[in-house]
Amino acid sequence: MSPRAVYRHATPTIRHAPEGGVTHETFCVTAGCGDESGARGEQAAAQGWAPRRAGRTGHDVSRRFVTDHAEATRAE
Ligand SMILES: [Zn+2]
Repeated sequence: MSPRAVYRHATPTIRHAPEGGVTHETFCVTAGCGDESGARGEQAAAQGWAPRRAGRTGHDVSRRFVTDHAEATRAE
């Protein structure tokens, strides 16, 4: 009896890992400002400062980051 090779082909995947949570951050993009919200667990908390900041400084454009965690299957 000859040995039989078993070929497996699995497509590597990457998926959102809810256990890692989601982080929201907002950054002022006015040159030389550098103001930012810091990492927050809620979008409202991360961007709530932007309108108040815009009213005081005139810096009215922000960059928003939303990041999550991901779990990948192992490629063979
Ligand atoms: Zn600013």
